[in-house]
Amino acid sequence: AGKREGRHAVVAFDPEMLGEERHRRFVERELRAAILMNDLELAYQPVMRSSDRTVLSYEALVRWRHPVRGMIAPLDFVPVAEKSDLIHLLGDWVLRRACSDFQRLNTGAVAINVSPAQLRRPDFAEAFEAIIKESAIDPRAVIIEITESVPLLAKGAELENLARLRALGARVAIDDFGAGHASLYYLRGFAFDIIKIDRAYVSNIAEKSVDRMIVTAICTIARGLGVMVIAEGVETHEQAQVLSECGCDVMQGYLFARPQRLSDILRAGRDIAAA
Ligand code: C2E
Ligand code: MG
Ligand code: MG
Ligand code: MG
Repeated sequence: AGKREGRHAVVAFDPEMLGEERHRRFVERELRAAILMNDLELAYQPVMRSSDRTVLSYEALVRWRHPVRGMIAPLDFVPVAEKSDLIHLLGDWVLRRACSDFQRLNTGAVAINVSPAQLRRPDFAEAFEAIIKESAIDPRAVIIEITESVPLLAKGAELENLARLRALGARVAIDDFGAGHASLYYLRGFAFDIIKIDRAYVSNIAEKSVDRMIVTAICTIARGLGVMVIAEGVETHEQAQVLSECGCDVMQGYLFARPQRLSDILRAGRDIAAA
């Protein structure tokens, strides 16, 4: 929400002003129209190699620019959408837009957040594949981020969808690793390519030795499995330094860049080129 972007931001939408039930009805009533009217936007946040500050990929993060209520953050509407068919409409919009932005981002890969409700749809991978083909993007440039809170191993459709997308060449990232209940269990049975360590382990990593031990252990396991590790929510140089010492050199966070509009990323790129 704008509120979190600082005091110069536009007046933010505050779902608490509405009450939960009215908020849900508001989203269900207006999100469909917003998708059709193109009132959604994607912000992009880079994933960096800390040692040389190379951008490896960008993560797409959805925002809703409401004509009256201002900017609405994903946590204020994605969970509501997940409880209805809207999540599929939203998910398809996000994927289409991210694929069409990809060429202009001029980067190695684009990461897309996919919710458990989307993965449960039996024809999810098929629809995803169709959109990828439509936009002529190389499937190997697509990363699918799924949150660790999903009890994936128990269910059939989710795994089949992910397996099919991996067979196509897309990569799968476990988002918010360590924040849910399934962490180590996940590592045993489930094919994926990237671990994103939850911000909770990063915030106090300079002060808390147990967080350093956990991050080091995750990096050791990841190296053994041959998967990449990304630390989320890196805000200070000290955190970046300690993470590197723990074996994690790939990072994302406000220290490097906030999520930005594509036009701002392109403008910054031009400024650098002109300088
Ligand atoms: P996520 O995928 O774990 O994304 C990271 C969130 O942390 C983003 O919030 C990002 O803006 C924020 N962040 C990045 N760096 C920092 C930092 O250094 N410090 C702090 N304090 N925060 C940081 P955002 O954009 O509000 O998104 C929240 C969540 O909403 C995402 O968490 C993701 O789970 C979900 N989401 C976002 N876009 C989509 C989407 O297109 N589809 C679905 N299904 N979910 C989405
Ligand atoms: Mg994510
Ligand atoms: Mg995350
Ligand atoms: Mg998250």
